[in-house]
Amino acid sequence: MQTLDSYVAGKWQTGTGQPTVLSNPTTGAALAEVSSEGIDFQAVLDHARGVGGPALRALTFVERGGLLKDLSAVIHEHREELIGIGTANGGNTRGDAKFDIDGATGTLAAYARIANGLGDRPFLVDGDPIQLGRTARFSGQHVWMTRPGVAVHINAFNFPAWGMLEKAACALLAGVPVIEKPGTSTAMLAWRIARIIVASGILPEGAFQFIAGSVGDLLTRLEPLDCVAFTGSARTGALIRGIPNLVERNVRVNIEADSLNSAVLAPDVDAESDTYGIFLKYVALDMTQKAGQKCTAVRRILVPQDRVPAVTEDLVAELARTAVGDPADAAHRMGPLVNTAQLADVRAGIERLAAVCDVACGGADPIAETGCFVAPTLLVARDPEAAVIHSDEVFGPVATILPYSGAAGDAVALAVRGGGSLVTSVYSNDAAWTTEFVSGVGPWHGRVWIGSDKSAEQSLPPGMVLPTMVHGGPGRAGGGEELGGERGLELYMQRVALQGFKGLLDARFGRPNDA
Ligand code: NAP
Repeated sequence: MQTLDSYVAGKWQTGTGQPTVLSNPTTGAALAEVSSEGIDFQAVLDHARGVGGPALRALTFVERGGLLKDLSAVIHEHREELIGIGTANGGNTRGDAKFDIDGATGTLAAYARIANGLGDRPFLVDGDPIQLGRTARFSGQHVWMTRPGVAVHINAFNFPAWGMLEKAACALLAGVPVIEKPGTSTAMLAWRIARIIVASGILPEGAFQFIAGSVGDLLTRLEPLDCVAFTGSARTGALIRGIPNLVERNVRVNIEADSLNSAVLAPDVDAESDTYGIFLKYVALDMTQKAGQKCTAVRRILVPQDRVPAVTEDLVAELARTAVGDPADAAHRMGPLVNTAQLADVRAGIERLAAVCDVACGGADPIAETGCFVAPTLLVARDPEAAVIHSDEVFGPVATILPYSGAAGDAVALAVRGGGSLVTSVYSNDAAWTTEFVSGVGPWHGRVWIGSDKSAEQSLPPGMVLPTMVHGGPGRAGGGEELGGERGLELYMQRVALQGFKGLLDARFGRPNDA
């Protein structure tokens, strides 16, 4: 059995104490064990602050971008091996594993490209100069400066590669050293990537540390200019946000939590249209990709009530095309849930939903003698306002059809019952209806995806998180924001309002061509 160690204070360290065992969710075989007990977390922070931070801050944005480009390339060289680990420890089909791993290397490469536009000075200019005095002689200029702190990244189990590296890309480009902690149940993939990163020698020492297992008392030791970027359940997010040290010292905490995303079919979409075609395709994809263990997966499907029988039939047919089984077998399009605890959670969640819904396909019953498998499960709400549908994130291949009147306002009222979500997707060719819907749901979401005949052919699936667009959502979704191109650096930088003689501000802190 593999022992997953941690890379801290310049060396690999194996934890002491009772380890947690990681297993293969298809076969149940034990694969690895992990423990972080015995790690001196103050030494981890000191190493990042004293060694990694200064080394990163000595580089320009362009130079840091070069590091990200090299990291992307070296990780990509190991792609096949990493896909194998994703399949063994994460239950990923080849397609699911590629989604995670290529998403990770693609995001690193995207930030390497973004770096080229950020210039060779250690700050970023925000907006134009603002006249403050009687004349422009006394002016203001906002700039972003790198915070001399440490970034602690705590990731969810479902994207061990992408989750770790999308956060690392932004922090490292901003010049902040990272301490990465993956979700334990799938940590083998993140650990292997950490091994590749450290062995490559690409990053300055201290810029990247990796903790396999618990973060111990690390968060109680953070200081005002440090930050925590967390991805995981709303429950753990709330717990972390409330840690007294983080509250008292105003340590920045970015939370990416769970979300009850919706897909909304407008009444104008006819069954022969391209829009309806992508609606069926993307809803089924979102439900089954990574066995529905995706923060952006569709959980609620809003359908005009007179269309519910036909849409249900079409979605059931679409889902039936997803062969479920051993993810190592290329014939299978959906693998198991990640572990027995998730399986038990999802089965219990389906039962709670089934109490207020009709089951159109799938259900809570086991579909295999071994392995953490559950069938793609589509439900139809008897009462679309039933609280459980809008409060329980069943983190598996599970979604519920909610009948609504067809009025945009009624669709908004249901969609916002999720309490704030990461993404909503709307399918319509009616510009007025779309505008009313988007205007209503927009403030409750981090992202609104609009599908129509005009863009159907070129559209990317709504569940796909892109480095150039922000990811996050208000309320229940955690209230955080990540990525969005240059915006993704803001968590790691301080916006400073400089006020003074315009000549100095332009020359030293303005855009290069203002100087
Ligand atoms: P989780 O149980 O909340 O765990 C998330 C991370 O927090 C793990 O690394 C976990 O470590 C760590 N953790 C747990 N308790 C902690 C504590 N007291 N102090 C510090 N760290 C702690 O979530 P999960 O089951 O891994 O992930 C599934 C959830 O993540 C779903 O709800 C999903 O919607 C959400 N998610 C959201 C996004 C997004 O971008 N919004 C993306 C992906 C997933 P251990 O694994 O060692 O317990």
